[in-house]
Amino acid sequence: MEIRRSATELVIQTPAKLNLFFEVLAKRTDGFHEIESLMCPIDLYDTLYFRDEPGGKVQFRCRWMGATGPVGCGFDQVPDGPDNLVVRAVELARRKAGVQRGAHVLLVKRIPAAAGLGGGSSDAAAALVAANEVWQLGRSRDQLAQWAAELGSDVPFFLADGPAVCRGRGEQVMPLIGIGGLHFVLVRPPEGLGTAAVYRACRATAQPRSVEPFWEALKLGDLNKAGQRLRNALQPAAAKLSPWVKRLEQEFARLDLLGHAMSGSGTSYFGLCRHARHARRSARRLRASGVGTVFAVRSCR
Ligand code: ATP
Repeated sequence: MEIRRSATELVIQTPAKLNLFFEVLAKRTDGFHEIESLMCPIDLYDTLYFRDEPGGKVQFRCRWMGATGPVGCGFDQVPDGPDNLVVRAVELARRKAGVQRGAHVLLVKRIPAAAGLGGGSSDAAAALVAANEVWQLGRSRDQLAQWAAELGSDVPFFLADGPAVCRGRGEQVMPLIGIGGLHFVLVRPPEGLGTAAVYRACRATAQPRSVEPFWEALKLGDLNKAGQRLRNALQPAAAKLSPWVKRLEQEFARLDLLGHAMSGSGTSYFGLCRHARHARRSARRLRASGVGTVFAVRSCR
């Protein structure tokens, strides 16, 4: 995430993520699934504006400013009140730190929702960082990551500021170094999926694959091999729930991509490209087939 400070306000650009590798290992007794995923932030951002409110109230507004209209990007499913993950994160920070501070918070959304892009989790992580800094709570990123895990499995990842392998239910984050800039074409089809429904429809893989061969290929900069090893174990379950997953798989198979897969619990679908020009060219072709909102993006910190 990128943080800008002014005398009155903190402004955070907080990114979406892609799951380049996603394995479901087992269902746990607490109802969560044990997973192993290599996640990577991309340069598609929401913006959080956070200002201290001396009156002690938390005031929250949320607005869509995506590249295309909100229809088909799931913005109608983003709560604009206490259920928004930003408000939940701010309230959690107040409770954990035992402070009665207030804030004016504006969330400008560009990351499509219910899409497997982690927008809500990213916003929650940004809100924790903002509250910690503006209210001078003095917590380290590791301490914030413990709070973050209470808000959602993917929230701690966004505090690591870079690609990472995530294990457990996703909250055990091992940051990775040595991954160069990666370019992708990305589509959010007109229909989204809820994470819980996809997990319900999913079975743990009988012979789970390890992230290591994929991670090795990335470290060596062997994009061809990395493309062949993209994997998402949730994809068959998501394909049972939304026809868009199969449709996108077919559309992406027609392009000369290094590999393609669904991100997270879907329905967003991405392809690994050779360079930025390749991503832009692939994006033009996908826009012409009317499959939803199309982005050419790259990995970021
Ligand atoms: P993940 O990849 O982490 O499973 P996702 O990308 O599929 O997440 P999100 O966009 O993060 O899904 O949001 C999931 C749900 O969380 C939304 O459908 C919405 O109801 C709720 N939500 C709460 N706060 C937010 C927020 N700030 N932005 C987006 N969704 C939010």
